[in-house]
Amino acid sequence: MSTNRLDRNIVVLGGMGVGKSTAIQRFLKNEFSEAHYPTVSNTYNKKISVGEREYNLTITDTAGQDETSILDPSFAGSTDVYVIAFSVAYRKSFEIAKIVREKILDISGVESVAMVLVGNKSDLKQDRQVSRNEAEELATKFNCPYIETSAKENSNIEELFIRSVKIANKAR
Ligand code: GDP
Ligand code: MG
Repeated sequence: MSTNRLDRNIVVLGGMGVGKSTAIQRFLKNEFSEAHYPTVSNTYNKKISVGEREYNLTITDTAGQDETSILDPSFAGSTDVYVIAFSVAYRKSFEIAKIVREKILDISGVESVAMVLVGNKSDLKQDRQVSRNEAEELATKFNCPYIETSAKENSNIEELFIRSVKIANKAR
């Protein structure tokens, strides 16, 4: 957990190509790129107002996970909230989101952690492979919120980070 009262550490996880980096760049700079730059791991800082307070966010972008990835165990002690992203246009990434949650619980050694489930690429309406209903059901099972975003159309991106702060606050 962050030590400063108004610092919040957010770690963004999920399958490769779901739009983690694009969503973060959209939030940081309001930019969209078609390019896909495989990420190693990057951290960014940004201030955000939620309610009456201004929070200092540290956002960690990750390379993306698959079935066999090993999560950095040091996330467990320092993360206030996990964002688990998948693409609504790619079913496999929805399955990976479930695996990623298991890995988070493994490294955390507890039964529940603060997280937000994100279905990105909501603009790809013709290509949708995961219904909102199904994703909401999974989030209910996970006891976390579900939010649909489009980094491309800048839909719900700021809301995602606001929501993440609120969930982190609740867990404190
Ligand atoms: P990451 O591996 O999860 O970081 O994925 P990237 O952020 O690199 O994005 C992978 C690809 O998906 C890139 O070509 C992005 O332009 C594209 N992309 C990201 N977000 C969206 C979105 O909301 N809608 C659409 N249509 N494409 C997106
Ligand atoms: Mg990336």
